[in-house]
Formats: sequence, C-alpha cells, structure tokens
Amino acid sequence: MTASVEAHGYAPLAGKNAVVTGASRGIGEGIARKLASRGAKVVVADVNLSAATATADACGNDSFAVELNVADPDAVRDSVSDLVDKLGHIDILVNNAGINRDAMLHKMTDEEWDAVLAVDLSGEFYMCREIGTHMRGNGYGRIVNVASASWMGNIGQTNYAAAKGGVVSLTRSIAKELARKNITANAICPGFIDTEMTRGMPQHLFDAQLDKIPLGRAGQPEDVANLVAFLASDDAAYVTGEVINIGGGYKL
Ligand code: NAP
Repeated sequence: MTASVEAHGYAPLAGKNAVVTGASRGIGEGIARKLASRGAKVVVADVNLSAATATADACGNDSFAVELNVADPDAVRDSVSDLVDKLGHIDILVNNAGINRDAMLHKMTDEEWDAVLAVDLSGEFYMCREIGTHMRGNGYGRIVNVASASWMGNIGQTNYAAAKGGVVSLTRSIAKELARKNITANAICPGFIDTEMTRGMPQHLFDAQLDKIPLGRAGQPEDVANLVAFLASDDAAYVTGEVINIGGGYKL
C-alpha cells in the first residue's frame, strides 16, 4: 500500500491493474502515482526504463516498469501479451506518452510531422487496439486518452494538433464500439501544465501562455491526475465518449 492509501483508507481502484504510458516523468508520472495512491497496481510503460523503474518504485502496490516504445506496433503487441500473461487482467489504460516537435508550417520537416503522428496518434491507436481487445474479453475497462487543448488548432503545432485531433476522434469512435462491452473511453485535453515539455519553451512564450489561464497558474501533473483517477474509477461508469478540458480555464 502507498502512504496515501494508508493515510486516507480511500482506495476505489484497489484490485485494479493499470497501464500508464510515458509515465516516467511529467503528467504520466503524476497519473501513475495518483492511480497507485487510490489502490491500483500500475505498469509504468516508457521508453526510459530506469526512470520508469523509479516511478514504479515510488508507486508501491507491486507496481513495475516496462520498457516500451508505443510507436512500435510489434513491441506494443508483444508487451501487452506479456502483461496479460503476468497480470491476468488489465482494467485501466491511460495513453499519456507524447512528444512535440513544434515548427511553423513552412518550416516543418517530414521527420517532424512523422515523429509526432507516430507517437501521439498511432501509439495511442496501437495501445487501444491491443488492450481494448483484451478488455473486450474481460467485459470491463476504463480507457483515458491524453489529447491536448491544442487539438483545436495552434500556431506552430500542425503536427501536434493534427495528432491530438486524431486522438479525440479515435476516442469518440472506440467509446461507441466498446460501450456494449462495459468499457468506457474518454479523451482529456490538458491546457498548460508545468512539465519538461513546457519548461523547454523560451521564457516570453511561457509567460504568454500563463496570461491565457484564468486561474492564474500553470497546471501541475497532479491536477490532471485527479481527473484521470476519476475517469478510471467506477464513479465514472456513466461517462464515455467525452472530451474534457483540464486547464484552469485555458482556451486557445
Ligand atoms: P513529458 O514531460 O515530455 O513526458 C512525456 C513522457 O513520455 C516521457 O517520459 C517520455 O520519455 C515518454 N515518451 C516519449 N515518447 C515515447 C514513446 N514513443 N513511447 C513511450 N513513452 C514515450 O510530457 P508531459 O508534459 O508530461 O506530457 C504528457 C502528455 O500530456 C503528452 O501526451 C502531451 O502531449 C500531453 N499534454 C501536455 C501538456 C503540457 O502542458 N505539458 C498539455 C497538453 C497535453 P523520454 O523520457 O524518453 O522523453
């Protein structure tokens, strides 16, 4: 048990197995820790195994790390097969892994376009297909796909916005397909969250983003994690196919 479960005795995810991608740091780490604090065993899936192991150790609940590149369909298939053998059931999938390669349209290279689409859109599709198929057999599942406020369109992010818009449409489609199997699927759209992804911005752009947030601060990974923990729980059993902003009022 994690310290939080011990302290509060609130464990709505006890007995659940969760897979969180890109969870070695940033928002994914916050989600992994939160799900564990609510009682789940968490598989921390990331390209960076040593950092993922540190997150899994912090989670407790017999959580563990796996090295996984979500953009590699064969690796996803093999890894999910191994996880099903090991865990027996996967109840919660959080597709969080993502990258950005921002550039204005006239400067964006094929490589920048392809890299972002491969991880941010195809990666979520591969994970949904493999784990969604497993969940169908179990007759239970909670899928949370991390999109972004940028899906509405953003300067310098044609690749990222297109991928995240694809995640929204993917999620709405699988929500309809999987509903009859007692599986929910929702997309969340973080606004401006304080992680390495945003800390790499020039200061004047960082400050300009803060000006767009009515609540007056950048979000923290835990802010996003609180929403994911709700969507992953049985309290959200009647919520599916939704696209939910989490940004302190942030609008592009
Ligand atoms: P982050 O700090 O850059 O963390 C992303 C994590 O994903 C890293 O651990 C990274 O590993 C991992 N990753 C990258 N490519 C991967 C792959 N192919 N397979 C598996 N893992 C991979 O990003 P973040 O800010 O926490 O963002 C998390 C998610 O939220 C992303 O989907 C992002 O698009 C979305 N989001 C973020 C914000 C924001 O303001 N931060 C806003 C809206 C949406 P490495 O250590 O190797 O890089």
